[in-house]
Order: sequence, then C-alpha cells, then structure tokens
Amino acid sequence: MNNETRPKTLRILFLWAGLVLAGCATPSSAKHDRLLRYEFERPQMGLPFRLVLYATNPALATNAAEAAWSRIAELNAILSDYEPESELSRLSRTSGSGGWVPLGHDLSRVLIAANTLSRDSNGAFDVTVGPEVALWKRTRRQRELPSKAAIDEARRLSGWTLVELRQRDGRHEALLTRSGMRLDLGAIAKGYALDEAALVLRQQGIQRFLLSGGGDMVMGDPPPGQIGWRIEAGVFDTPEAPNRRFLHLANTALATSGDSFQRVEIGGIRYSHIVDPRTGIGMTDHSLVTVISPSAMLADALSTAVSVLGPTEGPDFAARHGAKVWILRKPVSTVEETYSVGFPRGASPAPSR
Ligand code: ADP
Ligand code: MG
Repeated sequence: MNNETRPKTLRILFLWAGLVLAGCATPSSAKHDRLLRYEFERPQMGLPFRLVLYATNPALATNAAEAAWSRIAELNAILSDYEPESELSRLSRTSGSGGWVPLGHDLSRVLIAANTLSRDSNGAFDVTVGPEVALWKRTRRQRELPSKAAIDEARRLSGWTLVELRQRDGRHEALLTRSGMRLDLGAIAKGYALDEAALVLRQQGIQRFLLSGGGDMVMGDPPPGQIGWRIEAGVFDTPEAPNRRFLHLANTALATSGDSFQRVEIGGIRYSHIVDPRTGIGMTDHSLVTVISPSAMLADALSTAVSVLGPTEGPDFAARHGAKVWILRKPVSTVEETYSVGFPRGASPAPSR
C-alpha cells in the first residue's frame, strides 16, 4: 500500500536483482514429478513482490503468475489509500457526510476483520490511523517532531469506533462518522492480497508456491522433496541481536513488522511508522515482530498489533487469533526475546554474515 520510496524495498530489490528479471520466468530442474521451478518478480502495491512456484510447463507457470498478479493489482485499486479513486479513498471522502456507503466484497471483508482486531486489541490495531500515519510520515521527511496541537488534531480524526459497519439487504455498509477521517489499510491489505493471490494460484492448479511482498509471505506445499520453504527470520538491525533463524514452513503465512526500515531518529529517540493509536505517537520501542498464521491477512495485521501491544499482551492476543509470534525488542540496551507457545524455536540458526 505504500508507494513511499523505502530503503527496505531497495534492499529487497537488490537481493533479488541478481536472481530474476522482472516478469521473466526462470525454470530450473526439480527432478520430481517432472515439476520445474519458476521464479517471477513484479512491483505490486508499491513494493517488489516475488513468486516461486513449481509447475509442469512454462505456460501453466506463466498463466498462473499472471492471474495472481492481476488479482493483487485489482485489490490495490480497491484498497490503496494512495490511489485517489480507490474504493477506500472514496469511502474516506464520505466521512462526516452522515451517509451509509455500500461496500464491495473485498473492502467489506478487510474492514470487518480490522474492526474485530480493533475491538479485541482495545484499539492498538486501528485502520483509522491515516491522519496520524500521515503526520509521522511528514515527521520522517522533515525530521522535526509534530506539535502537540497537530498530534491532538490527528487523534481527533482517528479512532476505530468512528467507523460503523452494518448489513442491509445482504450488503455490507460503512459509516464514517467524523469529517476528515482517512482510512489506512497499510497493515492488513497486503496480507489480504497475498491470501487472495494464493487462492488464485491454487485455482490454477499450482500447489507448490511461495509468494512474498515486502517481508510478508504466503506459502503452499513445499518444493518437491523438501519439508518446507526455507525462510530466514529474525533479521534485527542491532549488534546485540540473537542469531537469525531459518524456518521451514508450508501451507501457512508469515509476516514481520518493525521499525528497522521506516523510522526517524530525533533527539536520540527512534519513532517508527507504526503508530500507537492510544497516544498518536510513532512507536519508540525498537522491535521486530514475526507472526506465523494460516491467514496472511491475520499475520500482516497481527504483526502490527503485537508491535503496539508489546511482549506482555501481544503473545496472548496473537494466540487468541490462532497465530504464533516471536518478538525481538530492544527498549534500552539489551535485546529481549519473547516467543508464544508453538512458534518454531528449534529451527536452525542461520549462518552469520
Ligand atoms: P510494513 O508496511 O513495513 O510491512 P506493517 O505491516 O507493520 O509494516 O504496517 C505498517 C503500516 O500500517 C503503516 O505504514 C501504516 O500504514 C499502518 N499502521 C501504522 N500504525 C498502525 C496501527 N496501530 N494499526 C493499524 N495500522 C497501522
Ligand atoms: Mg503488517
């Protein structure tokens, strides 16, 4: 959802640049069921997305990849807060008008999920944070802290209870009760798009795939002969960080949230692009949250929610939503590590670089 030029984006692009050319398929032999490995890359939602899949022939692979990319592009056109004519932006512009707005299928699913997560997290997860997020984006550009008045105003225009949802004649509708609101699905839409693209791949007969976008990913069956897709996790940008790990995952999703790539440091304090809706201030805990969940939408949203809730409330909150979490946090000088029950701790440490 984020079209801002991001160091994270560049880093990922750099890592992949040597592997694939955008839009090209690169087959390699897999010696199993005559399946071949194909790799694709495509900018989507302002980020590089990458797809690795196994298929019996190039036409099948390319058609499946194109269908997945189309679905993601379609969702971006609906859910983006950057596109002025997206369904989301049009909804935001109705705020304060008093009118109920009928919602399309995709937007209603995302807003209903967001609403549930807001209620369950006491507002730590909140897609109405658009005005606060915009304020901290400006702060990152200008390197100057916002005034208290600006923070108060952004907070006045935010709050999950300012969105009302209802069902009328089988259709979902939304009412944004205060003028000037701006919905921001930056913490959930990417995950929803990954889930939907995974569905498309399966409909196209592709079972073995790994699809990732901006650090979040969804995977189907593992590569032939493997127990899972080998994923490097826990890349935390501090010298005291514990070893990063390789996880072997299949038929699940993983998302990370943190302040490693989008942040600003002012007066010795780091402010993240994740905002604590209870204060309107960018999170100042230096942290990296990794979530594993069967749903990429939930993994995406929960990683942000747990970043706000922290290690005391976060793991239980994730568990209530059927997810597992690994939190690395450096509030002062030492790194605290918290796992929720069931997070794959035994995974092998990745070699240091
Ligand atoms: P990334 O976009 O780097 O993967 P996240 O998934 O954590 O990181 O999403 C962060 C984005 O979510 C922010 O850029 C902003 O758009 C939005 N956001 C920030 N704070 C919150 C919050 N408390 N609740 C919901 N969304 C948030
Ligand atoms: Mg996220």
